[in-house]
Amino acid sequence: MTNTILVVEDELSIATLLQYNLKQAGYEVMIANDGEEGLQKAIEHRPNLILLDLMLPKRDGMEVCKELRIQKIDTPIIMLTAKDDEFDKVLGLELGADDYMTKPFSPREVIARVKAVLRRSKVVESAQTNDEKEKLSDSEKTYHIGPLSVYPERFEASLDNKELEFTPKEFELLVYLLENKNRVLTRDQLLSAVWHYDFAGDTRIVDVHISHLRDQIEENSRKPKYIKTIRGLGYKFEEPKGS
Ligand code: CA
Repeated sequence: MTNTILVVEDELSIATLLQYNLKQAGYEVMIANDGEEGLQKAIEHRPNLILLDLMLPKRDGMEVCKELRIQKIDTPIIMLTAKDDEFDKVLGLELGADDYMTKPFSPREVIARVKAVLRRSKVVESAQTNDEKEKLSDSEKTYHIGPLSVYPERFEASLDNKELEFTPKEFELLVYLLENKNRVLTRDQLLSAVWHYDFAGDTRIVDVHISHLRDQIEENSRKPKYIKTIRGLGYKFEEPKGS
């Protein structure tokens, strides 16, 4: 099935360039020229991915992103920012963007990011579909550590039987930490395993996500029992003794 990409961009030349290159790469493309229209099209047409400009008339990219996540629409979003935009990457990612790119970018770079983000979302999606099909499959891998239970295939986790809510990326990170329990993982390792960055990216993304995980699973996120910071190295998911 062809993936549809919604491009929300008010600069005609950039919108046209993106449209042309995405079509060349085999995607269906939809264009919106302002935030309002972008939001509407995202809700109505449910594209597979959104390229969302930050500075937009009517509603800016941050607002659109936030609004979509509030409405529980988890379409992957890549934020497009200009070099001098005062864009706080961490805030953008906190609001639910999956990735961001700084203008000017090459079409090749955009396609590569689009592919990477779609690949990631497919993994999560297929986990969710499997969930519906085989809710009771007992062959699935699960993690039980103290009060924490994680069901990677169902995309579910609970603490003391209370369901936890994670963004897809937070969940992926948690599962990766669990798969590598008791091993120290560097920020770069995490960035490449969970975000599929093949280059040195901004490792603050990792720290932000770790802190979200801690807020949900740790009794005291300042004194984490499970997700330990290994100074100068990275992080480690530790299974407390006797749990
Ligand atoms: Ca703009």
